[in-house]
Amino acid sequence: MSREKERSRAVKNQAGLERIPSLDALLIRPEIAALSGRYSRSLVVQAGREILADLRAGFSARRRSNDLPEASEIASRIVAAVERAVSPSLRPVINATGVVLHTNLGRAPMAIAAADYVRATATLYSNLEFDLATGARGKRDVHTSRLIARLAGAESALVVNNNAAAVYLVLAALARGGEAIVSRGELIEIGDGFRIPDIMAESGAILREVGTTNRTRLADYERAANKRTRLILRVHRSNFRVVGFAAQPSLKELALLAKKAKVPFYEDLGSGCLVDLREYGIDEPVVRESFKAGASIVSFSGDKLLGGPQAGIIAGKGELIARVRRHPMFRALRVDKLTIAALEASLLEYLRAPQAASAVPTVRMIQTPAADVARRCENVIQTLKQTLESVKPERRLPEIQMIKTTAVVGGGSTPGQTLPSHAIVISKAAISPAELETRLRNGPKGIPVIARVERNRVILDLRTVFPEQEAALIDSLVAVFAG
Ligand SMILES: *Cc1c(COP(=O)(O)O)cnc(C)c1O
Repeated sequence: MSREKERSRAVKNQAGLERIPSLDALLIRPEIAALSGRYSRSLVVQAGREILADLRAGFSARRRSNDLPEASEIASRIVAAVERAVSPSLRPVINATGVVLHTNLGRAPMAIAAADYVRATATLYSNLEFDLATGARGKRDVHTSRLIARLAGAESALVVNNNAAAVYLVLAALARGGEAIVSRGELIEIGDGFRIPDIMAESGAILREVGTTNRTRLADYERAANKRTRLILRVHRSNFRVVGFAAQPSLKELALLAKKAKVPFYEDLGSGCLVDLREYGIDEPVVRESFKAGASIVSFSGDKLLGGPQAGIIAGKGELIARVRRHPMFRALRVDKLTIAALEASLLEYLRAPQAASAVPTVRMIQTPAADVARRCENVIQTLKQTLESVKPERRLPEIQMIKTTAVVGGGSTPGQTLPSHAIVISKAAISPAELETRLRNGPKGIPVIARVERNRVILDLRTVFPEQEAALIDSLVAVFAG
């Protein structure tokens, strides 16, 4: 570039940059001055600096001064930046994916009663570790142990941060320095790099792998048992299935073998299913059945099928639970009062509800008959169509219909099993399905809508949408199509 050209460009650039108002000039504008009553000056100044820096950077990149926004527009960007800065990043969304336990969408939504109870106990002092009867120091476990033991049919129970922590702690407390026998067909990865063999290595237990990927026989376990054996482990295949030429011993057989070898039989159940969901097509082992079959100790998640907060629940024989609790790592993995409050209240819902905890959203979503989902779909479609027609948008309206779909439990439980469901399907819109999915995800009415795109159509499965979110879903769709 010639020196002449460079100079003229610099002059123009300078002229453009000078047209960007100063921060001081912006701060005294009424719309920004109005913020100072609600927010700290430093927050407003920081937002102002960021927006101005963005403008300068954008201008220097394009060097077209006629692109510069008006001062009022800059001011409203600053207002928006301040609002963004004080808004939480973690927000509610509408889950229209049809995946009941969607790990990326917070897994299990909790019962309202559980959230209320968290609020009631966490914003005040509580008897978390205080025995109200004696006035002496108490244990935080008491609030949940009794309930878990009762609902799971166990002698005693313990709660830690999550089930990954539970697996680690059980192995560290009961099998460290010795061998834990496990089938090669159960050396699983749960997701996000959580692998059973890695956890075992960290726990100090030596993995004694038996059998093959598809078939493991009782005799394989029998042959592996020796004086170094500390534990027999069964890991529930929670996110995959082995079909075809496959076999594994029953829980009963393994329990008997463990008894003969005088070691505990530990089952990592994955999902903590407290009620039988088989009549709804979900064949997930129920915790109680593991103990009936002879398991000495089990562990499962609080936020999978149980529908509570993130937690790892360890239940079983009193003597084993006591040993696990004495392990020094228990202190590092224990849960706080929010989790205890949420879990206790969630478990109480199971104890109260006569026909299996319909107050727990995960259970309710699974138990809802497909015909009910269909009826809700029809109602939503009718309201949506009426609203769209009444606002008479210029753009062509999309085709909106109901289809039969299949929802899944997800979240590391019940692989390959589906729930019959119904969805709103949107096709032939003026925008592409990908664009529609993006716009809904951006939350046109403040609440993001998470949809699926399948075969060039946007699909909204209502099984996982709360009835009280239907109005917001309709508003979002109207905003996208007629906004
Ligand atoms: C989900 C799962 C885990 C991990 O549980 P988190 O609560 O997510 O830590 C461990 N084992 C099995 C079999 C699981 O399905």
